[in-house]
Amino acid sequence: MELHRLTILEARNLLEKGEISPSELFGAFLARIEKVDPLIKAYITICEKEIEDIVEKRGKLYGIPIAVKDNICTRSIRTTCGSRILENFIPPYDATVISKLKKEGAVIIGKTNMDEFAMGSSTENSAFFATRNPWDLERVPGGSSGGSAASVAADLCVASLGSDTGGSIRQPASFCGVVGLKPTYGRVSRFGLVAFASSLDQIGPITKDVADCAYLFSIISGFDPLDSTSYPIESEDFTKYLGRGVKNLRVGIPEEYFALGVDREVKEVVLRAVELLSGEGVEVLEVKLPHTEYAIATYYIIASAEASSNLERYDGVKYGFRVGDYRNLDDMYVKTRTFGFGKEVKRRIMMGTFSLATGYYDAYFLRASKIRALIKRDFDEAFRKVDVIITPTAPTTAFKLGEKLEDPLTMYMSDVLTVPSSLAGLPAMNLPCGLDSNNLPVGLQIIAPLFREDLLFTVGYVLESLVPFERKEVPLGV
Ligand code: GLN
Repeated sequence: MELHRLTILEARNLLEKGEISPSELFGAFLARIEKVDPLIKAYITICEKEIEDIVEKRGKLYGIPIAVKDNICTRSIRTTCGSRILENFIPPYDATVISKLKKEGAVIIGKTNMDEFAMGSSTENSAFFATRNPWDLERVPGGSSGGSAASVAADLCVASLGSDTGGSIRQPASFCGVVGLKPTYGRVSRFGLVAFASSLDQIGPITKDVADCAYLFSIISGFDPLDSTSYPIESEDFTKYLGRGVKNLRVGIPEEYFALGVDREVKEVVLRAVELLSGEGVEVLEVKLPHTEYAIATYYIIASAEASSNLERYDGVKYGFRVGDYRNLDDMYVKTRTFGFGKEVKRRIMMGTFSLATGYYDAYFLRASKIRALIKRDFDEAFRKVDVIITPTAPTTAFKLGEKLEDPLTMYMSDVLTVPSSLAGLPAMNLPCGLDSNNLPVGLQIIAPLFREDLLFTVGYVLESLVPFERKEVPLGV
């Protein structure tokens, strides 16, 4: 058995029986990273020494190497957020999710590449380098958690954490053929996650299968007094929802998500999966989500407005990058932010500042907030009729590097199917469900009502056993 292929639950089994040791497992991954990561470039930082901290501990993730997106603070490990402005930032504390992982004996194996400040859909906005899709090195892994998704797909870790503001876990999971969960807003602590858009950001697991996703989610979720938007609900063992039947469950198919801009093959593969599910006694119904067409505009106004405010703190004073050469305080601010931030981040700060400005607030931010309420209401209506909604995760499979880089609007459109559920705070999961004619993974998205991740696991687990999808062995000729 090749150790890098193991899921969390498989690795845990071998570790518990003493058939492998944590350092053996860790060593196998480090060796694989050394060989394969130069091609994929999933990691910004590789944590070779982390294993030394855990060997005595016992826990639910004892000895399991986990990769972490580089916008989640890790004590004493550089956390760059994919940005020059935080290039040398070493957090003095752990994010709550990291404390939880460590308490269960996990080993942080590295920090993964991402679009700068999580703004992007291809990981090409990283200030350092682009990550490549393990299924085709000429293509992007999606974004912004592209490094986290690619590291799982290429077996450079057992599982990873990403963050999702408008699709950043689900879309790269879809492009890389792995499972990715965006939890209900408030269910996983945001303490220690570098803020992008605080009313949308959530941390979630990216894993090789649904069982691992449920397992990891059980560990990282739950109320945290350190996050004021954390919901007062304790975690539970979500693996108990695996293997439950789906008979008589009602699945909604929103026509808006199969309309314009969605690739024909993607539609076909997703609808075939839904057909397989109906063979299990699931009732498939059409639902309407009429405000979907406004979701992208709404999201980009709200997310950018929040970002413009959250990113004010990077001024070169307390921490992060500061230019060496300046005339006075104003000049220092201007130069630090001019050199420290990349193009897309600056674009968002400008858009966000504009939409919040006196005279424009009502026309943009306020109106977007109202449409956000309508989008939520669409989902409330739909969930009166159905238990879960199934859609494609992204309109296309992985696109080529450089293909959308010069055209921000086209890039933004790759989030069209993930942002509505983000705006509504709903939990949603990507599940690989087949391949297109380029042999690239197609992902479907299951969306559930607030706090009903259990349904995502139940339905996802059944679907996973039905769909024609095998995780790729990515030897990449090495
Ligand atoms: N691609 C979207 C954006 O650029 C979503 C990013 C995210 O979820 N972090 O904002």
